Order: sequence, then structure tokens, then C-alpha cells
Amino acid sequence: MGWVFGVATAPAAAERRVALVPELVDRYRAAGARVVMARGAAARAHWRDEAFRGVEFVNDSEEVFAAADVVACVMPPTDAEIRALREGTVLVGALRPWEQRERVELLARGRVTALALELLPRVTRAQPMDILSSQATVAGYEAALIAADHAPKFFPMLTYAAGTIRPARVLVIGCGVAGLQAIATARRLGALVEAYDVRPETREQVLSLGAKFVETGVTAVGEGGYARELTSEEQEQQARALAKAVAAADVVITTASVPGRPAPRIVTAEMLAAMRPGAVVVDLAAEQGGNVEGSVAGEKRWVGEVLVIAPTFITSRMPIHASEMFAKNVWNFLAPYLADGAVRWDWEDEVLRACVVTHEGSVVHQRVREWLGL
Ligand code: NAD
Repeated sequence: MGWVFGVATAPAAAERRVALVPELVDRYRAAGARVVMARGAAARAHWRDEAFRGVEFVNDSEEVFAAADVVACVMPPTDAEIRALREGTVLVGALRPWEQRERVELLARGRVTALALELLPRVTRAQPMDILSSQATVAGYEAALIAADHAPKFFPMLTYAAGTIRPARVLVIGCGVAGLQAIATARRLGALVEAYDVRPETREQVLSLGAKFVETGVTAVGEGGYARELTSEEQEQQARALAKAVAAADVVITTASVPGRPAPRIVTAEMLAAMRPGAVVVDLAAEQGGNVEGSVAGEKRWVGEVLVIAPTFITSRMPIHASEMFAKNVWNFLAPYLADGAVRWDWEDEVLRACVVTHEGSVVHQRVREWLGL
């Protein structure tokens, strides 16, 4: 009886999150786990090793991978870590399975069961496990703060001894989890907010946050509650309608994406050129190809007189709460399979099945196979 729960150390220095927080250690131990982490694994998230009472510390992440039955991670592990895993080990967390064919094949060859939580179905039961939602909440909040920090204007309306300052105008494009949080945060800071999404149900959500909805006449509902890609006529219609809102904005925050596709290009170079000097654009979709022409992931650059910011590792700007949310998602995902001091996977469970990328030596996920051309 008993099993080993390992916590990966994120291999990128810029990644500050961790998949276990101190308050959850006792739950894993109560479920029969020995919990193993490398020394300093949570240091970038500001937790000392001493805070993790009951955890066994080893020297490095590879040792964790070699010892564990289940390993949790906030980003894909290195090849050396994957090679250290024993056959049949379960790797669970943010695995970006669309990104690298070699990594997925390495997991399969090592007979690792890889569970990518990005693939969770968007059903009610899976919401407490949903790392995309929890981390998008962090990203949307941070996007609004980054914009406010770089804007040459106040966000709120202010009255001072010599008069009144008008509030900044913020436009949010893409109103999924991140976009709605960006709207809410910009509103709390007092900005005048407008927003737009192709899914018609977002209109009510935008209005309920005290923002105005930009009408473009374009709607595009796809599978599973997600958006679909626009046709070129729809793109033109959208561009015509959005151009005015973009030109009027002091800040534009873009978060639009379509699953399995490059991010839609929404803000063009002409739209940027029509913005006020000093305007700020934050593109949260840059890693998927960008919603904004000329944005480069990880860079902050002037395009003409407009500052275009495309942050990467944005959730690492608040690693404590981002880790808490992520670690809770992982626990909620694993908890149904923990009984009598052991892990008992239910391979008939639709939530579990949706996440399985590799199992018993093969890449079993159909969508992942298509993404990677397998
Ligand atoms: P996402 O990150 O995939 O995309 C962000 C937004 O971009 C979406 O709202 C999308 O409609 C929008 N978009 C795409 N193309 C666009 C375009 N050309 N112009 C403007 N906007 C465009 O979204 P998400 O936050 O992951 O949410 C996607 C869906 O999943 C929503 O329906 C959401 O309510 C749902 N969801 C369900 C659950 C759950 O039930 N477990 C959890 C989270 C989200």
C-alpha cells in the first residue's frame, strides 16, 4: 500500500509556480502518499522548504521523477526528467501536448501515462480542476495591471484642485475567462471599458461587469462552447466595426483564441497606426501567434507611437495565488481516484479519458495526434 506523489521543479527560471502548496500536503498524506519534492522547488513562489511539513526533500527534480508514481507539474518537464520516469508512472499537469511531437513521443516510448489538464472537458464537474480557467483568471487580472502600469494616463476619473481628469478608455477583445477578468480589473481601477467577443452569450457577461459591448454584427459559435475561426468576409466586417473602437481606446487588451488554431489576427498595423500616441496594447495571445500585428511573445516594443506588450509567464507575476489555484485544481482532479491509501484510476471516467495523451506506449489522444501530425 501507499504511493509516491512527486512535485516537479519548473525547468524554466521564469516559471515561478509550483503544483503543490503547503496547505495541501496533509491531504495527499491522508490519501496514503509519500510526498517528494526537490529542495527549493517552491522557492520562486516564495515558500521555504520548511513550510512543506511532511514532505521528503531530495536533491533535484530528476530524483523526484525517478521516485514517483504520480508527478505533478506546472509546465512540461525536460527530456532528462521524462527519461527518469519509471514505466507506468503518471505525469499530470500543464503539458502543452500540441507543442512538441518529440516530447509526446518520448512520453509514449517511456510508457508514461501523461494526463494533460489543458484537455479537460469544459463541463460543470471539471470546473474545480480547470487549470485553463484558474490560470486565465490570473492572466486577465495581470494584463489589466500591466496596461495600467504602462498607460500614460490614470485609469480612474479624478477630480483635483485644478479640474477633472477623464478616465482612460480600455477595450478588451476576447471575453473568455481571461478577458472577463481583465474587464473586471480595469473597471475596479475606474476605467471606461468596452469589450467584444464573437460568442453572443458574452454580451450579457460584459454588460454585467459594467462595460459596454461593441456590436460588430459578427458571431461565430463553434464546438464545445468555444468560438470558431471567422471567414474572411466576417474578418473584414469585424475589422471595420472594431477599427473605431480601437482608435478611440487608450488601452487595448486582446485575449482571443480558438482551440487548436493559431490565434486570430484582430488588431492590424493600420489600426495601431490610428491609435493615439502613447496608447498601450497588451496581447495575451502572442504565444499562439498573436491577436496584434507586430506583437512578439515576451517583448515590449514600440510599433510607431503605440507600446505593444506581449507578456510570457504572466501567471508567474503572482506565483503564490497562481500556485494555490493550480495546486487545488490538481488535487481536485486526483482526489476521486484516491481510495484506501492507493490510486485507482477509473479509465471509464470521461473527465479522465479526455486528458490522456499517452498510455501503455502509445499516443492515444485523437486531437493530439492530429495536432502533431501523427
Ligand atoms: P479561450 O481562451 O479559448 O478564448 C478566449 C476568447 O476569445 C473566447 O471567449 C472566444 O470566444 C474569443 N474569440 C475567439 N475568436 C475571436 C475573434 N475573432 N474575435 C473576438 N473574440 C474571439 O476561451 P476560454 O476562456 O477558455 O473560454 C472558452 C469557452 O469555454 C467559453 O464558452 C467559456 O464559458 C467556457 N468555459 C467553460 C468552463 C467549464 O464549464 N468548465 C470553464 C471555462 C470556460
